[in-house]
Amino acid sequence: GGTIGILGGGQLGRMMAQSAAQLGYRCIAYAPEGDTVAAQVCDDVFANGWDDTAALAAFAAQCDVVTWEFENVPVATAQAMPGDRIFPHPRALETAQDRLAEKRFVEGLGGTPAAYARIDSMHDLEMAVDRLGAPGILKTRRDGYDGKGQWRIGSARDAAALNLPEVPLIYEGFVEFEAEFSVILVRGQDGEIRFWDSTRNAHEAGILATSTLPAGETIEAQVDEARDLARQVADALKYVGVLTLEFFATREGPVFNEMAPRVHNSGHWSIEGAVTSQFENHIRAVAGLPLGDTGCVARSVTMTNIIGSAIKGAQSHLQAPDTHLHDYGKAEVREGRKMGHVTRLVR
Ligand code: ATP
Ligand code: MG
Ligand code: MG
Repeated sequence: GGTIGILGGGQLGRMMAQSAAQLGYRCIAYAPEGDTVAAQVCDDVFANGWDDTAALAAFAAQCDVVTWEFENVPVATAQAMPGDRIFPHPRALETAQDRLAEKRFVEGLGGTPAAYARIDSMHDLEMAVDRLGAPGILKTRRDGYDGKGQWRIGSARDAAALNLPEVPLIYEGFVEFEAEFSVILVRGQDGEIRFWDSTRNAHEAGILATSTLPAGETIEAQVDEARDLARQVADALKYVGVLTLEFFATREGPVFNEMAPRVHNSGHWSIEGAVTSQFENHIRAVAGLPLGDTGCVARSVTMTNIIGSAIKGAQSHLQAPDTHLHDYGKAEVREGRKMGHVTRLVR
């Protein structure tokens, strides 16, 4: 038993808390932002601001261990937690919150990101499009998710017509990928690492639509190399918990896209599809328990996200065999918002 504190209040925290409850923990959430679905499973929710020092201290005082479900928790907030009781270590947030820092870090470990350039002005962008070519994608360095804060640049003329937002940006050459996949691992407090099978991930309008297993030969041939990099990232960060790296499978091998220092949407299949889910293993890791088997229990798995108003008819999925619905219980339905997911297994 004991109390696990979760920074963030979204569906990832909700599913984490469900696993924690099963293992006998009490969870509390620190969730200043919006509609907190973690509240349905957590004993208490602190809705104070990320920089409310007194509230953070009161939160930490209740927790035996603290983790996060949201990758944009301010680093200072994570650092305000007791350093020996927060997992992963806040340095993982620091690296992963900035697309530029993240790419440099991964390159330093021998990984290959898309060609990129730092953009702080129109001049930088013109130079970058000239040097790296078009098409490409201009991204905000911070705070992007589900494809938000990204602009497709088809030509130098597109670039010239842009009204640059006043935030740090990065330009990436467009990767002609054959497929996308993710490597999800859990690393324990003793440094043991286990990987889940890598799913094939398909995106629609910048949002993950489906994750499927088996992922197919193109991806399977690149998983070992991608895992080597993910292992190095996890070891370099002395990471504890679940870590995700997204990759493009290309003709030249795996190209690193981005990392998420947390459980990941493309790992939701593991709730029913793996011996131990990403959520349970994350809790096991941060609580210092033995890690569970990450093996897949089915011949094939398809996880489909339920976006926006599609949640209305979602219960009809339950007519299909071995199909499992997760409705996150979000009060507000918005276009492009992740409302739930459904996992179908063939055993
Ligand atoms: P997430 O919700 O995964 O955190 P995000 O907003 O951080 O998403 P990215 O992962 O950077 O966004 O991009 C979203 C999707 O857009 C990618 O999965 C991929 O399909 C496409 N994409 C992003 N960058 C590139 C690129 N350089 N070349 C080709 N496609 C790209
Ligand atoms: Mg991202
Ligand atoms: Mg992504």
